[in-house]
Amino acid sequence: MKKKILIITTGGTIAMKHNSPFGVIPNDEFTEHLRSFPQLEKIATIDVHEFSNIPSPFIDPPMMLKLAQTIDDKIENYDGIVVTHGTDTLEESAYFVDLISKTQKPVVFTAAMRSGSELGLDGPRNIVGAVRVAGCSRSSRRGVLVVMNDEIDSARDVVKTDSSKTDTFASPSLGLLGIVDPDKIIYYRKSEYHEKIITDKIESNIDLIKCCSGMDGRFIEASLEHKAKAIVIEAFGRGNVPKTIIPAIEKALLQNVLIVLVSRTYTGRVLPEYGYPGGGLFLHKKGVLLGGDLKGPKMRIRLMALFGKYKHVDDVKNYLLNSKDN
Ligand code: ASP
Repeated sequence: MKKKILIITTGGTIAMKHNSPFGVIPNDEFTEHLRSFPQLEKIATIDVHEFSNIPSPFIDPPMMLKLAQTIDDKIENYDGIVVTHGTDTLEESAYFVDLISKTQKPVVFTAAMRSGSELGLDGPRNIVGAVRVAGCSRSSRRGVLVVMNDEIDSARDVVKTDSSKTDTFASPSLGLLGIVDPDKIIYYRKSEYHEKIITDKIESNIDLIKCCSGMDGRFIEASLEHKAKAIVIEAFGRGNVPKTIIPAIEKALLQNVLIVLVSRTYTGRVLPEYGYPGGGLFLHKKGVLLGGDLKGPKMRIRLMALFGKYKHVDDVKNYLLNSKDN
């Protein structure tokens, strides 16, 4: 029997066309087009729900929460859900849904790098691949998946690595989970991460600051003025910062603002190793937390969910200190 798949559209380049003189902009034919897409009809019974039709830089965490809730509300009637999304913030939305959504059924994000007006469209192939993965029983209990360019990645690990190429999505640390081949869906591995933060509230006032040589504490000061609940700092290497930002970090800790270090490197974990001023061990002894291998934008999303669930900074701290996912 054919699987029943719901496609939830949010917008992005996959739903855009070139419209002179405005450039590439959202187009309202996409949802209708999906409803009568012959390649899809062959592989599944398809319903389409338009959640939004916007570029993904417009998508903010409250919308991500609404998207996760929409998925949980609707999935009962389907074997799986495919979400079409802009590539720019796809890794954040997909990870957000991965943390918050309660379902164990397949939820698959897909997108396109080329608009409907370009040669060599990647969108149709990506949608067909995503629907096949969503309809595959082996896709259950793997967390939210991302299907692009015939590859299957975990939402937690995937990043957009290139600004224009169609093979832009990759999991540079841990590698892909599987592939979409013409004859079948093949899984090579299962992710060991199964973190769920079940909450119907989030805290959006969490900032992300990237370290660079010679910086001062002004961005941390600005976050404190705006009453941020937590600040993620993308530190150098294993988790080290310029000593010129130590006073601002100390001020944040005194105000009970959680500081979490992640690495600005492409791959790898942070670790309390260096004891010099600004080193990871030095900062950890002061009360700064180290956030494992998660990249900055995703750690920020994780903290939004954790502060939505726990409210008090000490509870979030305890959760992170005891988490095997760091
Ligand atoms: N700017 C677009 C978006 O994220 C890029 C894309 O979808 O590829 O909406």
